[in-house]
Order: sequence, then structure tokens, then C-alpha cells
Amino acid sequence: MSHELRTPLNSIIGFSKIQLKGLNGPLNEAQAHDLTLIHQAGQHLLSLIEDILDISQINAGQMKLFYEETDLREIVDSVLDTAAALVQDKRILLYADLAPGLPMIHADKRRLRQVLLNLVSNAIKFTESGQVKVQARVMEGLHPQTERLASFLEISVSDTGIGIAPEQQADIFKEFSQVDASLSRRAGGTGLGLPITRKLVELHGGWIWVKSQLGQGSTFTFVLPLQRANGAMADTLSLPEVNAQEVAHVA
Ligand code: ADP
Repeated sequence: MSHELRTPLNSIIGFSKIQLKGLNGPLNEAQAHDLTLIHQAGQHLLSLIEDILDISQINAGQMKLFYEETDLREIVDSVLDTAAALVQDKRILLYADLAPGLPMIHADKRRLRQVLLNLVSNAIKFTESGQVKVQARVMEGLHPQTERLASFLEISVSDTGIGIAPEQQADIFKEFSQVDASLSRRAGGTGLGLPITRKLVELHGGWIWVKSQLGQGSTFTFVLPLQRANGAMADTLSLPEVNAQEVAHVA
């Protein structure tokens, strides 16, 4: 299914890019304009399809995580590199403030990057000016499942954007939920980003929440346990391939 959906789109995206680069000869202004629209629409549709495939896989309990020793700093750097393109037209300071000496974590690199990129691109999307900041630190707290003291990596993305009304803060984690459909349509988006983000964090044994004030900005925070719920140190576990349901069971 996924292959059938992606292959024709890759042709649309790839060949429009080749044309745009002028590899088949120079383009006039109208052709360049139309090809740019085709290229953008293709990319938009691809990210929509990827979101729909992700959420259906998660809901079917078939999302597989590939755990590796992961350096959060590397992931944050790569997310900020990608997101730099999104702040070009805005007066936003985009930066990270990570506590020194963060431990390595046991995580699926690609999925952790997806979580962070989604939070950072949302923060930029809903902020006109000010700052978007990624922070991370180690904290101690009671593990909700074991009720024992445990260490967590706490990662937050805060912005100085439009904020989210208190009555809408729980809804935004539900599928297809958008606070202001017209704004989101203008900004682009499916209403699937946060539900996917939340599920991916939960599959890692963590959880996510938001604190926000209308007109002031929002902070999305998630924690990832550095220890498994059964007490084993995360970095002594080797889980090359874990089924979502198994992870939910372990956590
Ligand atoms: P979308 O693809 O529409 O961004 P998400 O699931 O990522 O879908 O977000 C759902 C809705 O939550 C958004 O449409 C927006 O209304 C709100 N939202 C998410 N992040 C922010 C933020 N940083 N500031 C304000 N509103 C936000």
C-alpha cells in the first residue's frame, strides 16, 4: 500500500524538480511558476500520506521501533538545521539550550527526530516573532507505572506564538483536531502531527503535555525514561526491533 502511494508521487516530485532545475532546457516564468506549484503540492501530499500511514500503523499496533544508542544533541542539531529554512521569512530566534553532559538514550532515532521536528515546525508555524527554543535536561521523578523514583530525559519546545486556549489543550492531541481550521489550512497541516507525536513518545515509554497561554506562547514537554519500568537500565537493554504492542506491554 505504502509503495503504491509513494511511487507515483515520487515521480511527480522528482520530475518536476528536474524540470525546475532546467535540466531539460530553460523555462519561461509561467512554466517555472506552474512547476513550483506541482512540486510543492506533491511534497504536501507526500507528507499527508506519510502521516496517514503512520497513524494507521500505530493504531493497528504495528509501528516498529528500531532502538539504538542515541545522542539527543545530534538529533536536535539536525532538526534545527532542517527547521532553519522555516524561519527564513519570520523574525524568530530559533535555538537550543541543552544541559551539559546529557546521557545517551535508548531510542528510535528516526522517530525521535520526527517527534522533535513536528514540535519545532508547529512552534514556528504558529509564531510570527520572538523565539522558538528547544531545551533538555535530566530530571528525577516518580515513574507513573512503578511509582518508584526514576530518571528521565525531559525535552521541551517552547514558542512565543499564538498560544492555545485551555479548553482546547486536550483536544489537540486527538486525531484531525485543529484549533482554527482556517489558520491551519493556511499554515498547512493535517491535524495528525500531535497524535502521532504523542503515540511515538508513549511507545518509547514516555509521555507528553502542553502548557500554553493564549497570545503568550506554548511549551510542549515530553519525558523519556532513562530506565525501563522493570528497573533495567535502558542502555544495557538491546532491543533491535520491538513491536508497538510489546513496548506498550513492557512499559
Ligand atoms: P497540524 O498538522 O494541523 O499542525 P497538529 O496535530 O500538529 O496538526 O496540531 C494540531 C493543532 O494544534 C494545530 O492545528 C494548532 O491548532 C494547534 N497547535 C499545535 N502546536 C501549536 C503551537 N505551538 N502553538 C499554537 N497552536 C498549536
